[in-house]
Amino acid sequence: MTPKPKITLAEVDLESVGRLHPNSKHAAFWTPRTGKSAHWQCPRCRHTWPEAVKTITARKQGLRCPRCGIVPRRTYSLAARRPDVVVAWHPTLNTPLTPDLVRAGDTISVWWNCTTCARPYQRTIRLRCARSFPRCRACPPPR
Ligand SMILES: [Zn+2]
Ligand SMILES: [Zn+2]
Repeated sequence: MTPKPKITLAEVDLESVGRLHPNSKHAAFWTPRTGKSAHWQCPRCRHTWPEAVKTITARKQGLRCPRCGIVPRRTYSLAARRPDVVVAWHPTLNTPLTPDLVRAGDTISVWWNCTTCARPYQRTIRLRCARSFPRCRACPPPR
């Protein structure tokens, strides 16, 4: 039997463990600095790809999905950074995207509820996070 490493990925980075593909869950018991590759799965587009564990743990921002871009760690997410904007996030039209899987600067177009007339409308996340964000077209223009 090989001795277990002192520190495992599961102990230091549970968020990354949660991104492991179901067939690669054993990597949770590897050391977080290993150059060994595991398979990761994007929670947004379900794309699966191999990448070294140490590359994943070294990235502060989060997972870099080869297909749909950066899937942020919780602390970098829209949910953590902009609760003021998240209140307008449409609860059903954005599946599988959720406020903790996107960032404030993302140019992805998503659905929002207008905070004035409550109608749903689409805007990029970046635009909605701007100080003077474009209003819903159903609302009368501000005077
Ligand atoms: Zn993806
Ligand atoms: Zn409106």
